[in-house]
Amino acid sequence: MKDIKILVVEDDRSIANLISTTLKIHGYTYAWAATGNEAVAMCASLQPELILLDLGLPDIDGIEVIRTVRSWSTAMIIIISARGEDSDKIEALDNGADDYLTKPFSIDELLARIRAAARRLEFQAQRETGNAVFVNGQLTIDKGSNLVSVAGEEIHLTPIEYKLLCLLADNAGKVLTHSFIISRIWGTGMETDIGSLRVYMNSLRKKISHKEAGEELIRTHIGIGYQMVRKEGSDDE
Ligand code: CA
Repeated sequence: MKDIKILVVEDDRSIANLISTTLKIHGYTYAWAATGNEAVAMCASLQPELILLDLGLPDIDGIEVIRTVRSWSTAMIIIISARGEDSDKIEALDNGADDYLTKPFSIDELLARIRAAARRLEFQAQRETGNAVFVNGQLTIDKGSNLVSVAGEEIHLTPIEYKLLCLLADNAGKVLTHSFIISRIWGTGMETDIGSLRVYMNSLRKKISHKEAGEELIRTHIGIGYQMVRKEGSDDE
């Protein structure tokens, strides 16, 4: 797996130590910022590829850090926060965060999120080389011919289902909120209707997962949105 530069933003020294020690043991390169302003400055100077961000910081709020950094950085941002309300997660995601962990979190869960972020970074690097075929586990999307297949067998999707699948695939690994998906698929003038989104998503999921063994490719974040899970080994295709 590719080494990634990680910035840990956390004002609680014991949690910062826990995260830093974990990263060190697993061979990741990291730096630590204890305040929001320090985090913004270090993002600019160090150009990290992944930011582990606490929201409750002593100077500026974590949401403000996301907004500032997002205006010029494509680094992946994973929120690690004690704020467990759906509205807090949605605000962070809609401002450009990619994923979230709620405190208290398990080290294994943190490491799994970092590995997923590393896979997504590799995938992004591949995509920048102009590869029009998206592969994730058993799923293949050929954007040149709009063909979708699962385990080599062609799947027939409606135009809306295809758009939904491409949106999730283009953002694989990222949690997309209901309002983000609705605005991207149906346009911003539409009445927000999470119920019909759920119907389309269920139908899409049935079509692409009928041969998929084990874990679902599309993960539901109840009350928040959906996420395409990046499968291990997909980068080797
Ligand atoms: Ca804090």
